[in-house]
Amino acid sequence: MRTIGPNNPAPEFIAPTVEPAGDDIPREACGIVGVYARGEDVARIAFFGLYALQHRGQESAGISASDGERIRVQTSMGLVSQAFQEEDLERLQGHIAVGHTRYSTTGSSRISNAQPIMSKGPGVELALAHNGNVINALELKDELSELGCTFSSTADSEIIAHLVTHAPATSWADRIAYCMRKLEGAYSLVMATKDTLIGVRDPLGVRPLCIGRLNGGWVLASESCALDHIGAEFVRDVRPGEAVVVDQDGLRTAYQREPDGRRATCIFEYIYLARPDSVIDDRLVYSARMDMGAELAREHPVEADMVIGVPESATAAAVGYSKESGIPFGEGLVKNHYVGRTFILPDQRLRDLGVRRKLNPLPHLVRGKRLVVVEDSIVRGTTIPHVVGLLRKVGVAEIHLRICAPRIMSPCYFGVDFPTKSELIGANRTVDEIRDFVGADSLGYLSPERLVRAVGKDRSQYCLACFTGKYPIPVQLEMDKLVLEARRRSLATATPT
Ligand code: SF4
Repeated sequence: MRTIGPNNPAPEFIAPTVEPAGDDIPREACGIVGVYARGEDVARIAFFGLYALQHRGQESAGISASDGERIRVQTSMGLVSQAFQEEDLERLQGHIAVGHTRYSTTGSSRISNAQPIMSKGPGVELALAHNGNVINALELKDELSELGCTFSSTADSEIIAHLVTHAPATSWADRIAYCMRKLEGAYSLVMATKDTLIGVRDPLGVRPLCIGRLNGGWVLASESCALDHIGAEFVRDVRPGEAVVVDQDGLRTAYQREPDGRRATCIFEYIYLARPDSVIDDRLVYSARMDMGAELAREHPVEADMVIGVPESATAAAVGYSKESGIPFGEGLVKNHYVGRTFILPDQRLRDLGVRRKLNPLPHLVRGKRLVVVEDSIVRGTTIPHVVGLLRKVGVAEIHLRICAPRIMSPCYFGVDFPTKSELIGANRTVDEIRDFVGADSLGYLSPERLVRAVGKDRSQYCLACFTGKYPIPVQLEMDKLVLEARRRSLATATPT
């Protein structure tokens, strides 16, 4: 999760992260999982759940477990497989567990920001894992500081944890109602107290959270693919504005915010963030991507010999384009699945190789052909010219680029780490200029209307702010406050001359 807070200022003030070519992707999301299952090895179940959610964040991972008496926590930097040893899982005994896997920007990549985060307040102690981004975190932090809360991280998730434990309420219904009145932004949460598992989804339902059944126990997870991996049966999504509680009496809705007709599920979950085998709000991501490809074929038809997808997030859309257009689908690029984190690369030659390490063309299949190349999105525009270059080098005759996401024009304030507006190529160049910049013969972006049609519900159900600039929650006031606070702090720490 990208954290915006007083020590980690608003996007306009963050120095541009230098990304190697080959990494021009929307970052973040964070994966969360919660398990309540008596008689089961809940920490190990949470571990395998996080394993399935690894695509949502590779920076750090953590699991908390409660045995009814004590909550233990283990967090570590790195991939899920690196973060836990066998003895860690053995130490995390109990019947309730919550887990988190995190992506952060370079500046906030530190162990203190790893989750789950512990918080203790009057009458309640809990471990919390969060996916999303709260935009009024600064204001809430000030309020909580006045109540005596101290902070050990720069994450807005710690602010949420303290808000929950310091809510002037005793029942979960009142506690969550209080927090929902206070919090502005995107938050899917799983929390473990000594005897209860709680799951919460913000009133707009920006980030996903679903419920599964496991051997008489219950599981909460960011995506349904995590349920599949641990052998749990999908039950339903947590509804926007709903808090579910699991204890010895089973699972029940503890609170449901009165729906006001507003909804803003992040449509980027369907384009790129979620795994294709996940079902979010009753829609299989793979099918949504296939329909994006079909819509692309209708909106941007072209004569060609073969359709390929940039693996793997664009594969389903490439299949959809092929089916709708009648142009055969083929594999033109092979992805190396075992490339870990890429580091900042010092020169152009190594940056070019950065793409090559991840993608390798199949010359025998594509040489001399007119290709439709389907990609999920273009963020900075640093990767796709290299992909086009790789294909040109092996003798592809024509490259017609088709993009599932509309042009990205604005940053995201709800948990996806897009760069600043000045770095977004879609915000600064026309489609023709981008086509020339990336070196394609033609370029077509899916329009927001057709994207919504492909995903399935009506436009009012989705957040499309990074394409339209129309945010479901007014962000400007909160961003202005963060900018002012960042200035105030930098003036306060400036050395007098
Ligand atoms: S701004 Fe874009 S990435 Fe962010 S929540 Fe909205 S649709 Fe998703």
